[in-house]
Amino acid sequence: HNSHHSMRSLLQTNAYVDGHWIPLEQRFQVLNPATGAVLADVADGDATLTERAIDAAHKALPSWRAKTPKQRAELLLRWYQAMLDNKQALAELMSAEQGKPIAEAAGEIEYGASFVAWFAGEAERSYGDVLPTQSSGQRAWIIKQGVGVCAAITPWNFPNAMITRKVAPALAAGCTMVVKPPQLTPLSALALAQLASEVGIPDGVLNIVPSSQAKEVGQVLTSHPLVRKLSFTGSTNVGKLLMQQAAESVKKVSLELGGNAPFIVFDDADLDLAVTQLLACKFRNAGQTCISANRVLVQDAVLPKFTEKLQQAVSQLKVGPGDQADIDYGPLINQAAIDKVQKLLNDATAAGAKLLTGGKVLDNLGPLFFAPTVLSGVTSMMAISQEEIFGPVIAIQSFTDENEGIRLANDTPFGLAGYFCASDYARIIRVSEQLECGMLGVNAGAISHAYNAFGGVKESGIGREGSRYGLAEYQETKTITLGGI
Ligand code: ADP
Repeated sequence: HNSHHSMRSLLQTNAYVDGHWIPLEQRFQVLNPATGAVLADVADGDATLTERAIDAAHKALPSWRAKTPKQRAELLLRWYQAMLDNKQALAELMSAEQGKPIAEAAGEIEYGASFVAWFAGEAERSYGDVLPTQSSGQRAWIIKQGVGVCAAITPWNFPNAMITRKVAPALAAGCTMVVKPPQLTPLSALALAQLASEVGIPDGVLNIVPSSQAKEVGQVLTSHPLVRKLSFTGSTNVGKLLMQQAAESVKKVSLELGGNAPFIVFDDADLDLAVTQLLACKFRNAGQTCISANRVLVQDAVLPKFTEKLQQAVSQLKVGPGDQADIDYGPLINQAAIDKVQKLLNDATAAGAKLLTGGKVLDNLGPLFFAPTVLSGVTSMMAISQEEIFGPVIAIQSFTDENEGIRLANDTPFGLAGYFCASDYARIIRVSEQLECGMLGVNAGAISHAYNAFGGVKESGIGREGSRYGLAEYQETKTITLGGI
């Protein structure tokens, strides 16, 4: 009813440290990618502010850690409820800074909030072990403890959920947190901090340092002796750099990095189902997700039929600004994203791939809107099958038999998500066990849920987010031996 009023009240443009909003002289601009309009001038956090935030998180640690899991869970559940109560305002803010349709943004708010509810529950279900007696005079057991002050560095493609799925398990485990949100989408992060403050998450437990100086802030977060753990979601190159930096003081790391997801359509697949699942997977967030299908591998025998059905479905897609109803996707995040997609397409077509539809900017909508695109005749040698496209492009490659399909799918240093469509149950088992990835969708293109263990193998990362494994990333395991019995 009054979403524009509540939206204004969730617009914070200052850093959030130790429960205070810190205005800084130096600011950076946040733009609306659909229009190019300036949305806000945000405080530009530097090394000094990052150190202040770490000190605040350190100061808040003893009393946060001393709360019972139930007390922490109650606060997390209040934060969860505040996100749902403000879903529309948070979605409008996210859509404005990130570009995704408001309905899709509202879906991300629910998804992001679901991690908070899930880890509130997991806080109360964290157990240690009583060990077998090793000698009659001693007993031993294992306890789980929060690792301490944690840092998170997050990307722009999911401005809310990439934060909640790090902060919620950290807080649930009794850790405190400093977050450096992405420069392109800091407003969703700051709105989350406002809600955390309103529901009574204590000062210093969650700190947000928006910044345009990622390198400088990252240096402090990875080298400061009080920081015990870094959780990062972003590109593989930056992840490797941060892991190297964190190695100096042996900080724990969780890394969720780039993918190069195969989407395999076998000759026994239900082709209509394959098309709907591929569309759900590919065009979510305009293809700007790390689990987007990047290489669509189609078995020869069904290639013509599948391609025809796919083109029919793709021709129905509607593109427009995020605040327009009934659109399938919005603009890409910035000009660099458009340039990358265009370059990958140009290279592929120059090397013999065939553009079936799309392949261009939709100038009538604006410079960052890219047409839904289908490309066929792609090969493994092309950059488009080796790099993340991060755009609304379906790149089709064909293969002859099951073994070749599996071999092509695994022929990459990455291993985040994988997908395949098939009906034969024996094939489903065989292929499921052979694909090298952390998450697999079989006849399913939407595979993210707080119950699932999200993460990758190979160069796609270390650790898991969500699920009962997500909490352990923020816990240490301590063995206690008691003698003198
Ligand atoms: P993306 O392609 O999603 O922007 P990046 O890895 O560049 O992937 O960015 C993910 C996050 O990492 C962002 O918050 C960004 O500011 C941050 N980042 C980028 N470079 C560095 C760096 N050298 N040190 C620390 N953080 C960085």
